[in-house]
Amino acid sequence: MLEEQLKQINDEVLACTQCGLRKERHQVVFGSGNPQAPVFIVGEAPGFEEDKTGVAFVGKSGQLLEKILLACNFSREKEVYMGNIVKCRPPHNRTPSIQEQAACLPYLTRQIEIIRPKIIILLGSVALKAFFGPSSRITRERGIWKNWFQYPVMPTYHPSALLRNPTLKRDAWEDFKKVIVRYRELVDSQHACKYI
Ligand code: SF4
Repeated sequence: MLEEQLKQINDEVLACTQCGLRKERHQVVFGSGNPQAPVFIVGEAPGFEEDKTGVAFVGKSGQLLEKILLACNFSREKEVYMGNIVKCRPPHNRTPSIQEQAACLPYLTRQIEIIRPKIIILLGSVALKAFFGPSSRITRERGIWKNWFQYPVMPTYHPSALLRNPTLKRDAWEDFKKVIVRYRELVDSQHACKYI
């Protein structure tokens, strides 16, 4: 049932002409993970590898995210679903425009409504602003729980920012530790993590 509902959106996305990003993309990156995942991770946009494979978070940023998730004892198969604010790669990895984000965001919010996660993690400034408005600042608001409708939301740095500036990794890990604590409160009190 959940899969069918997601497939319906996927079919719409495959045929989507709502913004100009469709012109240069190779693959639509719909999102992936467990349709019953308690944690929904939102990034910015597909990159080169994602555009090539059609899978979210498989490039260098994705590999770093995978390591962080492993440290949290989370996996894509079980605890996590991942998607982006826009589903087609912006040329040269530029930031998607406000119009492109507005055109694509309803697909993501419908995915969230179907999956109904217990926790949402927003990766980076674009995702934070798309959810909470243009005055949001990732440097100011990361690590602080917010609410988006009924969902608790943790903003943190995008893995690409951690690759550019490894000194941010410590803060990002502190944010993910808060997610683990909340996960134990909301989902599984026995969730194991050897670091916390
Ligand atoms: S980015 Fe989103 S809105 Fe734009 S064409 Fe792709 S699927 Fe459609």
